[in-house]
Amino acid sequence: MDDCVFCKIIRGDIPSNIIYDGELVIVIRDLNPQAPHHYLVIPKEHIPNTTSIADGSGEMLEEIFRAIKEVASKKGIDKTGFRTVINQGKYGGQEVDHLHLHLLGGRPMGWPPG
Ligand code: AMP
Repeated sequence: MDDCVFCKIIRGDIPSNIIYDGELVIVIRDLNPQAPHHYLVIPKEHIPNTTSIADGSGEMLEEIFRAIKEVASKKGIDKTGFRTVINQGKYGGQEVDHLHLHLLGGRPMGWPPG
């Protein structure tokens, strides 16, 4: 997608702080962190949101959770715990229409979420 910010990052057209670069998934540091650790786990394929994930996407989904495990361990937040969040659509607060999971850690998280 030409005008998608995450596609531009994946293509290398705009800079980002890359934490993990796998076959199907990339993890970057969020530009506007909401916690001491705030990363975005992004499939390289342009998929707009969770309800657009096609059947047969098992490898990509597996790599998402492998990347979470690897990054959480690398950053040490696996010990204290962390939160993963997917925003979708207007009420979900989604700003970028390219599927991504937020990986947040380094402080206690409140519940219920805002
Ligand atoms: P969402 O509201 O779930 O769509 O989240 C989009 C996230 O992308 C926000 O947390 C932004 O801070 C983050 N973001 C937007 N542009 C960039 C960028 N160029 N590099 C890193 N993070 C970004």
